[in-house]
Amino acid sequence: MSLEAQYDPDNIFAKIIRGDIPSVKLFETDAILAFMDVFPQSAGHCLVIHKQATATNLFDVDDGDLTALATAVKKLARAVRDGLTPDGIRIVQFNGASAGQTVYHLHFHIIPVYEGRDLSAHASGGPAHTQDLEKIAAKIRAAL
Ligand code: 5GP
Repeated sequence: MSLEAQYDPDNIFAKIIRGDIPSVKLFETDAILAFMDVFPQSAGHCLVIHKQATATNLFDVDDGDLTALATAVKKLARAVRDGLTPDGIRIVQFNGASAGQTVYHLHFHIIPVYEGRDLSAHASGGPAHTQDLEKIAAKIRAAL
């Protein structure tokens, strides 16, 4: 997928927004959805998306929607910090397949980093068990 790719309304995050496929949600507003990454790179890896902005990547989103996203990223990163007490937190956002993007609905990753524990590879391996994601999500939600 190039940086100029058209938005596909049937991408996996659009399906999550519509409720066509399940997700472990952290918080949701009219504009924003935050949920657990099902192929986590670390315990607590989560994602923030805009529900109305049909943006494939950073270059497609209008500034107002981007501001709402950035505000939600900060809110969720704070809850990950307080709920999971990692040693550091990566905020990551990929644009285009060449950069590592695999889902073409603009999103931000919040990836807690724990000293002495390597991150798993990006978007690979088997999916996490929902019960395990729910346990971590409960700690994040409690810190929101
Ligand atoms: P990207 O590679 O586009 O930056 O990130 C896409 C992310 O979505 C990856 O970290 C991947 O693990 C995650 N992901 C892919 N499919 C699903 C899914 O069906 N549900 C959830 N919750 N995350 C997904």
